[in-house]
Amino acid sequence: MSIEKVKNLIIGSGPAGYTAAIYASRADLKPILYTGMEPGGQLTTTTDVDNFPGYPKGIDGPKMMLELKEQAERFGTDVRIGEVTKVNLSDNKNSYHEVLINNETKIYAKTIIISTGASAKYLGIESEQRLIGGGVSACAVCDGFFYKGQEVAIVGGGDTAAEEATYLSNICSKVTMLVRRDLMRASKAMQHRVNSKSNIFVKYNSEVVEVIGENVVEGIKVINNKTKKIEIIDITGFFVAIGHKPNTSIFKGQLEMDETGYILTSGKTTKTNKPGVFASGDVQDKDYRQAVTAAGTGCMAALDAERYLASIEY
Ligand code: NDP
Repeated sequence: MSIEKVKNLIIGSGPAGYTAAIYASRADLKPILYTGMEPGGQLTTTTDVDNFPGYPKGIDGPKMMLELKEQAERFGTDVRIGEVTKVNLSDNKNSYHEVLINNETKIYAKTIIISTGASAKYLGIESEQRLIGGGVSACAVCDGFFYKGQEVAIVGGGDTAAEEATYLSNICSKVTMLVRRDLMRASKAMQHRVNSKSNIFVKYNSEVVEVIGENVVEGIKVINNKTKKIEIIDITGFFVAIGHKPNTSIFKGQLEMDETGYILTSGKTTKTNKPGVFASGDVQDKDYRQAVTAAGTGCMAALDAERYLASIEY
């Protein structure tokens, strides 16, 4: 097993991780960044990013992530493909945190920036999983465009589902919104937006039991969980908006998290409950979840790490 000692280790390669890397490498922390299993993170599943400042014509998500990587490398970040498989975070400022990569490389890090992001949740039924990329999507803003003028459905009753249903209603001819309870969790303002759209049809007490189609989505089979009535709805696009899950399982029991697994940070900083361990991006933010906010907290994490190292006179 190879063993290395580093000042700064960054875990994750979305906008938070790469921005942390740009700042950390410019501050001479000589960061090593491990990309995880989805190099570039969630933005690599996006086509046009139109809301990141500085790109007046928008930018393709994967291209933006490659440019962020290049920018981090320009200042000396050592970007490596690999996944963290185990961590042993220390409570002692004088010792190192231990991180295992792919069960074969051990890194002793004085500071760690966790930017492992979050992943969209899916229903988990077989037909849905099979048709991901064939009409099933967890990102209306990324993929809605492909269903221009067509009939689609979206599952979920939270703010994301309401926001995405509204977004889709401007592109698609008809949007069926499937809510599993007899009410939506979304804020009243968001519900109002949904209800004001003449081409959104909300079905309450409705659960999807099957996504129909061999290679592409042709429809969904929906059951009303009160009446038990089954209905087939013809659609070409099926969007899932039932929340996100932070990628924090390897840190469970070591870092303080909220009840849904998001890492808790202290006040306006990126500090976690372990000295020298910082969290940035979606892994610690369930409210904003934007590339630009993730990048902002990545910058904060690098500055926090730099100040921490200065304070322990490393
Ligand atoms: P939420 O957890 O708030 O909502 C998830 C929704 O999906 C709920 O309606 C839930 O139903 C439903 N759901 C969960 N699992 C299933 C399932 N297996 N089958 C069917 N339905 C299911 O997640 P969101 O992503 O909507 O929001 C996350 C956070 O981001 C929230 O704090 C939200 O306020 C915030 N946000 C704010 C926005 C804004 O203000 N513009 C925009 C988007 C998000 P049930 O209610 O029955 O549990």
